[in-house]
Amino acid sequence: KRRIGVMTSGGDAPGMNGAVRAVVRMTLHENCESFAIYEGYDGLVKGGDMIKEMHWEDVRGFLSEGGTLIGTARCPAFTERNGRRTAAKNMIVKGIDALIICGGDGSLTGADVFREEWPSLLDELVQGNELTAEQVAPFKHLNIVGLVGSIDNDLSMTDATIGCYSSLARICEAIDSVDTTATSHQRAFVVETMGRHCGWLTLMAGVATGSDFIFIPEKPAEVGWQKNMLSIIKKHRALGKRKTIVIVAEGAIDTNLNKITPSQIKDILTNEAHLDTRVTTLGHVQRGGQPAAYDRLLATLQGVEAVKAVLEATPETPSPVICIVENKIVRRPLLEAVAQTKKVAEAIEAKDFDTAMLLRDAEFAE
Ligand code: ADP
Repeated sequence: KRRIGVMTSGGDAPGMNGAVRAVVRMTLHENCESFAIYEGYDGLVKGGDMIKEMHWEDVRGFLSEGGTLIGTARCPAFTERNGRRTAAKNMIVKGIDALIICGGDGSLTGADVFREEWPSLLDELVQGNELTAEQVAPFKHLNIVGLVGSIDNDLSMTDATIGCYSSLARICEAIDSVDTTATSHQRAFVVETMGRHCGWLTLMAGVATGSDFIFIPEKPAEVGWQKNMLSIIKKHRALGKRKTIVIVAEGAIDTNLNKITPSQIKDILTNEAHLDTRVTTLGHVQRGGQPAAYDRLLATLQGVEAVKAVLEATPETPSPVICIVENKIVRRPLLEAVAQTKKVAEAIEAKDFDTAMLLRDAEFAE
């Protein structure tokens, strides 16, 4: 029987458990054996009890749980070849030659490096008498399939990552809560949101809560933004609005690539607009809690597709990442999706903001 491993890696995101559940159950449904690797790449490098066989009932209740129940970690050892060789050995010992990884672009890049090196890692293990030629013979190729788990929605070539809609819902709830007190006291609130180099959460939250002004990395604030922001806020106030909400992505910058901070905006609103202004940093609240219905669905559909992709893979097939494009679950080449994601950051760094915007758009890749 084929043995398929599943793991979560990198930053956690609501919906990751739903993905693990779908992968485990689809694996069993396809008459294969399922293994969970605990604590991300740490579990792969440590082996032993960190790689556990999974049965149907082991993932019961996973769908509605936030975070990741099989754990996640950042694993420096796996970024070294020695660590990856040990990981390969641990997999062979357990008879696993396919891995479905739910994580961000870092985790997926690591996975593809591992796949690429796999044959030479096995050679080294045989040469070093750690494994016999007979032991490695059945496991010539490593299959990797990626699932994107990230609240940031920062992977190019997919419309949504597992977790982003849960996080967006949580941000909107938090802003609604701040709204009531803002309205009561006619205050201004500057809300800082997560997203690393991606402004998706901030942009969507801005639209969904009717905020006054937002700052995102892909569209840096242009010279004179302070005046522009103030005139918009004053206009809204003149129309009778009793509150002011400005949302700042953690990666917000101006066109000179200087960071824009919530306290900087607070000072402007306090000193120039004479508003009683408070800063609210949402922090890890944005990552936690139950996954939204959308993330449960996405994780389930993509988990099923990931197992299908493993079973259909040939040695020539490039590693796929499971995406959603225009509401359809599709496979895309993992390395290309990661490369395009990296190009967004490079375009921003080179101050080519139009290209950065275009590269974010999944359809642009078509
Ligand atoms: P995310 O997957 O959320 O982007 P990280 O970038 O922290 O998170 O990556 C998670 C883990 O993946 C790292 O701790 C490391 O073990 C592994 N990893 C990331 N990049 C590489 C790489 N280029 N080569 C090997 N392993 C990597």
